[in-house]
Amino acid sequence: DPVLAIDIGGTKMAAAVVDPDGRVAAYDRIPTPNRPGTDAGGLWAALDALLDKLLADAGAPRLAGVGAGCGGPMTWPAAEVSPINMPAWRGFPLRDHLRARHPGLPVRVHNDAVCVAVGEHWRGAGRGHGNVLGMVVSTGVGGGLVLGGRLIDGGTGNAGHIGHVVVDPGGPPCGCGGRGCLEAVARGPGLAAWARGQGWRREQDGDPTGADLAEDARRGHPVAAAAMRRAGHALGVAIASATHLCDLDVVAVGGGVSQAGPLLFDPLMDAFRLHARMEFARRLRIVPAALGQTSGLIGAAALVHAGERYWSAD
Ligand code: ADP
Ligand code: ZN
Repeated sequence: DPVLAIDIGGTKMAAAVVDPDGRVAAYDRIPTPNRPGTDAGGLWAALDALLDKLLADAGAPRLAGVGAGCGGPMTWPAAEVSPINMPAWRGFPLRDHLRARHPGLPVRVHNDAVCVAVGEHWRGAGRGHGNVLGMVVSTGVGGGLVLGGRLIDGGTGNAGHIGHVVVDPGGPPCGCGGRGCLEAVARGPGLAAWARGQGWRREQDGDPTGADLAEDARRGHPVAAAAMRRAGHALGVAIASATHLCDLDVVAVGGGVSQAGPLLFDPLMDAFRLHARMEFARRLRIVPAALGQTSGLIGAAALVHAGERYWSAD
């Protein structure tokens, strides 16, 4: 039977019905109602409606379980999530809510970026490799680690938070309370904010996004291009540090900002080559997530479909 897979971020909520072989049989997404003033109930109602519609469209399949990835940090495995980028869900009991929705089914929740790592290891760029870092560069920056073929949870289920590795001690303030974290520099909204501070403007309604910025960079706007280089550089620095620490085989980079392609990956590779000097570090393969924007959903499904490798709690 398929798994109902869920991916919750600060910008979008996506859901899919995922077969045991990792194929996405049905998919839908909505913007996260993440405006100031949205309460936890409003967020839950939006997710609930997304899931109802997806399951109805898929013909109400019998499910093997529910797997979800959500922005962190969280208490794990209870999954009371406190996403830095979703103020309405501080301490929200996501796993309990999903269990009440789907009584009797296994319900497993992990960090959204951990799910990307799992998805890429199970069916994507990390397949067949023992040591994989999966990353999301989106509203936030996150990561998950598979080492020796097994998912690394860490002491509290929060291992892999590469977004809060410091790349610039004097850098911008971060949502975690720190300064100069990778996330503060490379997250989509941070890129756009930096570019605005340097005089980048666009004629449109609403705040321009990372996607707008990437479009302008592609057209040769110097500030937009500099913003993408700055993010790519920070990512390359952090990845060099990560592989010195973990001796990785593959890094798979997903998330909305990764869709900028070479604009992001070229400066990333330059910075990586500059800082990864040891032979064992230089062998690392850094690639865009092979499953694209569905890595997190496929990984969430794998928490159930391949639980023996990726789920060590209960
Ligand atoms: P979430 O954070 O909810 O998981 P996404 O992974 O879609 O959502 O990431 C959203 C972020 O990605 C936003 O900051 C958005 O501006 C940025 N983004 C989306 N598409 C692109 C693109 N083509 N190039 C650069 N940034 C992008
Ligand atoms: Zn931080």
